[in-house]
Amino acid sequence: MAKLLEGRPVAEKIKAQIKLSVQSLGRAPVLASVLVGANPGAAAYVRAQEKIALELGIAYKLHQLPENIPEGGLIDFILKLNADKPVNGIILQMPLPQHLDYKKISESIAPKKDIESMHPCTPTAVMELLGSTGIDLYGKEVVIVGHSQIVGKPLTLLLLEKFATVTVCHIATSKAGRLEEHVRRAEVLIVAVGQAGLIKGQWIKEGAIVIDVGINRVADKIVGDVEFEAAEKRASYITPVPGGVGPLTTAILMRNLVEAAKLQQ
Ligand code: NAD
Repeated sequence: MAKLLEGRPVAEKIKAQIKLSVQSLGRAPVLASVLVGANPGAAAYVRAQEKIALELGIAYKLHQLPENIPEGGLIDFILKLNADKPVNGIILQMPLPQHLDYKKISESIAPKKDIESMHPCTPTAVMELLGSTGIDLYGKEVVIVGHSQIVGKPLTLLLLEKFATVTVCHIATSKAGRLEEHVRRAEVLIVAVGQAGLIKGQWIKEGAIVIDVGINRVADKIVGDVEFEAAEKRASYITPVPGGVGPLTTAILMRNLVEAAKLQQ
């Protein structure tokens, strides 16, 4: 039976380090959070971020902008935040309304204030969780399912830095009927797709470490991409969903903010 690889205990350690860094800064770092419209998902992230910022002595400034703001208007707003000296970090809450191009807008954030891409938060959270198991990734067979810009691709580079042997699967792997064979040989399996039950429990190699990044709502419950009950019987470690990668992501965002504030000093 797998050990649960929970995000909160790792997040608590990171938060303790952040508190010390904030103290040594001598002032509260300022995080500007830009929320466009009234998306319930984005509002939930904002609440979680506000809570953790308060706990860590970080000044969280929420800017709520109207749903129908034109792209140029939003970019101008971000440029003002770039120029606003006391602001150390800027985050753009996702998802944005349909008419706004995330890539274009996020590229207007000054690199030194772009705390989301500084050290990408979710891939870093996955690396922290793996680190907490004590596993040496050198030469390990790691299989990532999902090759998105925000998770799969940056994670591949982080794992290569640790000399893991990395295979990246995606939609075409499934279409070619080869997902199962890759998953079956994974000593470390990381799944970030967004499809409940995509990874069958019986595919998990005995003793594998399973990190489930997926977040899916199924009949009012939040579940990951891996069949948890069956996978838990075979894995050595497995992240719960919720409670795995998620809680760590916000802690890493705040760590990036404090790092940015230090660099700006
Ligand atoms: P995305 O939609 O950008 O990418 C999905 C990936 O899955 C692509 O590589 C695609 O090719 C692949 N894919 C789709 N169907 C597949 C299939 N049948 N078989 C194999 N691969 C398939 O997704 P994303 O933004 O990376 O998010 C993925 C999931 O992770 C979502 O559930 C999202 O909510 C979650 N997520 C969680 C966190 C967190 O902090 N916990 C952060 C980001 C994303």
